[in-house]
Amino acid sequence: MEPHRVLVLNRSFEPLRVCDVRRAIVLLFTGRAERVEDTADLMRSPSIAIFVPSVIRLQRFIRRPLNHTLSFNKKNILKRDWYTCNYCGRNSGERMTIDHVIPRSLGGKTIWENVVSACRSCNTRKGSRTPQQAGMRLLRKPVKPISALYLTILAQSARHLHVWEKYLPAKAVRSLKGNGNSQEVYTCNGDVQSPLSLS
Ligand SMILES: [Zn+2]
Repeated sequence: MEPHRVLVLNRSFEPLRVCDVRRAIVLLFTGRAERVEDTADLMRSPSIAIFVPSVIRLQRFIRRPLNHTLSFNKKNILKRDWYTCNYCGRNSGERMTIDHVIPRSLGGKTIWENVVSACRSCNTRKGSRTPQQAGMRLLRKPVKPISALYLTILAQSARHLHVWEKYLPAKAVRSLKGNGNSQEVYTCNGDVQSPLSLS
C-alpha cells in the first residue's frame, strides 16, 4: 500500500511541500508545526498512540521555495497522471508509455493537453486512432499542470486528495481531475470539443 504522505502548509496556510509521516511527527513534537487534519489511522509506539497526520501547518512563516520551471517530459507526464494508465486506470509503474490522444499521424501535437500515460496494452490497442475511433475513453482530460510545485504536490496526493483539496488552489485540483468531464470528445484536429448533445 502507498505510504501516507503529509501536506505541509506554510503559516499562511499556503501549500509548501509534501513530507513523509516521520518528518511530520518530528515537526509536530518539536512544536514547529501544528496539526490541521489527521487520518483515521492510528500510529502506536510502546508508550503512545497518535493519529497519523494528513495536513500540518508550520508555526513560522517561511519563504516559498523558488518555483522551478515546469518541464515537459515523460517523467512529469507520468507524474501528472499518477503513473496510471489514462484508459484502464492500471498502474504499470515505470513501464508506462506515453500516448498521443490525437495521434501525430492525424495532426495531434506533442503538448500537455494531447499526451497521457498509457499502459502498453492500451497503447497497442489504441494504435494510430483517436479514442473515439478505438472505442476507448479517457479517464481524465489531460491538462497542463499550473506549476512545478503543484505537480509535485498533486502527484503524491492520490489517497489524500479528498482531504488536501481544500488547501490547494481550485485550478490545481481541476487540472488533476481534468475538469471531471469524461464526456468530452476529441476531434481529429487536436481540439477538444464537448459533444453537441448527450441527452
Ligand atoms: Zn491501460
